[in-house]
Amino acid sequence: MLLTKVSFPTTNIPTAAYIHIPFCRRRCFYCDFPIAVLGDRRRGEASGTIRQYLAYLCQEIRQTPAWGSPLQTIFFGGGTPSLLSPTQLQQILTTLDQQFGISADAEISMEIDPATFDLAQVQGYRAVGVNRVSLGAQAFQAELLTRAGRSHQVEDIQQAVTTLRQAGFINISLDLIAGLPGQSLDDWHASLVQAINLAPTHLSCYDLTIEAGTPFSRQYKPGEAPLPSDEMTAEMYRLAHQLLTEAGYDHYEISNYAKPGYACQHNQVYWKNQPFYGFGMGATSYLAGNRIARPRQTQAYYRWVDAKQQVEVEQLAQQDAITFDTTTDLLDSLMLGLRLKQGIHLAELGDRFGVTTVEQIWRCLQPYQQQGWVVLENAENFPLSGTIRLTQPEGFLFSNVLLVRLFEVFETEQILP
Ligand code: SF4
Repeated sequence: MLLTKVSFPTTNIPTAAYIHIPFCRRRCFYCDFPIAVLGDRRRGEASGTIRQYLAYLCQEIRQTPAWGSPLQTIFFGGGTPSLLSPTQLQQILTTLDQQFGISADAEISMEIDPATFDLAQVQGYRAVGVNRVSLGAQAFQAELLTRAGRSHQVEDIQQAVTTLRQAGFINISLDLIAGLPGQSLDDWHASLVQAINLAPTHLSCYDLTIEAGTPFSRQYKPGEAPLPSDEMTAEMYRLAHQLLTEAGYDHYEISNYAKPGYACQHNQVYWKNQPFYGFGMGATSYLAGNRIARPRQTQAYYRWVDAKQQVEVEQLAQQDAITFDTTTDLLDSLMLGLRLKQGIHLAELGDRFGVTTVEQIWRCLQPYQQQGWVVLENAENFPLSGTIRLTQPEGFLFSNVLLVRLFEVFETEQILP
């Protein structure tokens, strides 16, 4: 681990905020997110649990120092943010605006689940400023949805998209999961085709991960039936790339596809390893080079807010230099930056970590060039300029192999010849 003193230029002022809304009607069988289960009836103002949570959430926002620039992106994730009423969403947005300011053209996204909203509700979300929604479709087969513990039906997905469009939403993303138990390549093909037919502006295709402590982890073993084999998972990845790029979507990040102009602005902050505020139970913020994770349990989070632990962040903000783990920052930058189609600009990397490090990174990755997984482009003045990026879809598919190699080299500070 290399510890150095670094300064934080004004470009490192956060302009993105993640807000965690930790409520769901029930817990899906694969999910280990920090959430509280409300059942089918309690939601919005009728839920005392939600009202109490919003009071703490807004308290946390108010006691977080502003760094001086208005927010350009806000992301309501969950959980199921659509269990909040428009008025409750407005309460959070007003608090953010008073504390940090919100740009007039800010991207304001919210995750939303089929069968959790009606037309008046989503019209309300639009009226308070939400301009992008991410709909948790996951699959278009009733049996797969049931087996995953989802609380919506296949027909709810189409209905949700229709309702969102009636409310005036244009920027609609759909989430799909590949590798569900019992999911065949034909099922995956059918889900992709049905998703494309709904013509969203953006699609996220995630591989199922079996998380410890979930019902899935007790029932299934990765790579063993009824979960798809590794080869099948790879075929699913290639199929998504083929069908979605043929349909005009840009494969701009390992798991994400967008029509031109509709890449998610908020998530690019993460992938570019830029700072962001995080608020709410289980949320992580990244300020002044420090990732601060909030407690994942409701009562622990309330105690954390009451103890005003953000004071630590305030102290960091007032320092012009802090002790910083350069190795972790470098590995985060590589791990996140290589997820993007545009790859990593060597000039930026060199400015931050030095040209020797850039040369070492390329020596580490160069062997994978012959396999067609990584390319070095526009590098006439290497290592002072150029780009390293993974190829699509093979480089994206095998990104873990390259990352493991980078971690081996840099975590042990091994100097390559
Ligand atoms: S809706 Fe999302 S956050 Fe809620 S339980 Fe299901 S996967 Fe988890």
